Order: sequence, then C-alpha cells, then structure tokens
Amino acid sequence: MNLIFLGPPGAGKGTLASKAVEILKEALGAGHPHISTGAIFRSAIAEGTPLGLKVKAILDSGKLVDDQTTIDLVKERLARADVRGGYILDGFPRTIPQAEALAGFSRVDRALNFDIPDAAVLERLGGRRVCRKCGHNFHAVFDKPKQEGVCDHCGGEVYIRDDDRPEAVQKRLEVYRSQTAPLIDFYRGKGLLIDVDAGPPVNQVVENFKKALGIGI
Ligand code: AMP
Repeated sequence: MNLIFLGPPGAGKGTLASKAVEILKEALGAGHPHISTGAIFRSAIAEGTPLGLKVKAILDSGKLVDDQTTIDLVKERLARADVRGGYILDGFPRTIPQAEALAGFSRVDRALNFDIPDAAVLERLGGRRVCRKCGHNFHAVFDKPKQEGVCDHCGGEVYIRDDDRPEAVQKRLEVYRSQTAPLIDFYRGKGLLIDVDAGPPVNQVVENFKKALGIGI
C-alpha cells in the first residue's frame, strides 16, 4: 500500500511512521519503507554532500526546498526495489506541483491527514529532541532519553533541530498553511483522504491510524 502522511510540522508524522512500518509489516506481510524527505535532506547536510550544501540555509529558515530538487529526489527513491510492496511518504508532497508530479510516477493508495491544533504543535516542537544518528524523536518533557543527550536506541547524540527554534517554527506553520494544507482538498477530491486525530498521546494515535486503514479491528 502506498501511503502519504500529511499534516503540520509537529503532528507526529515521523514518530507514527516508524511505528506504522512495524504495523504494516505484521498486517500485510510487506515491507513499507519510511521515506522522509526532511530526513534525507538532514542526512545530506550532515554528510556535507552537494545537496546538503544547497539546502542547509533553506532548512534552517523553515522554508521549502524548491519543487524540482525535491521531486527528483523522491522519483529516484521510489525507483528502488524496496518500495515494491508499498511505502510511507512522510513530508512529501508538500505543494500541489509536487503532488501532481508524484501522480505521474507513482500510484497513491491513501493520504492520511494527521490533524492537530496549533497549540499542540507548538508544545511538541518546543520540546522535540532528535537523534543525529538514527533520527529517533524524543521530547524534553514527555519522552526523555534515559541519559540526557544520548539516544536510547543507537547511542547517537540527541540534539535540538535548528528549525525547531521558535522563529523557524512560525515560518514552517505559515508555509504549511499556505502551501501544504491545500493538499488536503487535493486528495479529498480524489477520494483518497482519511483524517486521523493526531492530538492524543502516540499510543492512541497508533490506534486511530489502524482504525483509519481497517487494520487489526
Ligand atoms: P520535515 O522533517 O518533514 O519537517 O522537513 C524539514 C525541512 O525539510 C522542511 O522545513 C523543508 O525545508 C525541507 N523539506 C522536507 N520535505 C520537503 C518537501 N517535500 N518540499 C520542500 N521542502 C521539504
């Protein structure tokens, strides 16, 4: 099943996607790689590749990378064999031109819209901590690593993303509202949209996700 995860920054798409990989493997018996364009950009930046050098300032400011660069990246990623049984696209598409381009090179089965009020977004992003090595998300209050600054899963360094600073968060919310939110109607119009309440704690959101896809009920 080819899935798109829509929703504002901080809706918990990345956290849920990691859990969804396991759930889909068990329910459907097929691997569904979690493909996060944000994570691909961050690792290019960490490695200092030409792509990383090109996009670093854009990510830090909370703006979007240009459509063509992003589309080329996803097209190349979806050409790999591991997506044959399905995939989870987290953070792509983020604009109507990206969604139109995607329709030209891949079938989309469902677009899940993770719905959450702005106040909850600000609380989540304000406390978000991320492992530099494996990308696992923690929270400074609700989900701390056992040892401060060290990832429980891989021992990597846990840090605060530059774009989780308050000015960048405001910019990302603005960009979400103007450029990404129109995708909700785009996919609703195609009969592919499912709303998922992303406000409750993650275990409940997992249940909402399963219900939305008719898994394990
Ligand atoms: P995320 O981890 O999904 O919050 O993405 C972090 C940042 O990466 C965004 O604020 C953008 O600067 C960039 N980015 C990720 N996905 C896209 C996309 N589909 N189009 C343009 N820029 C993106």
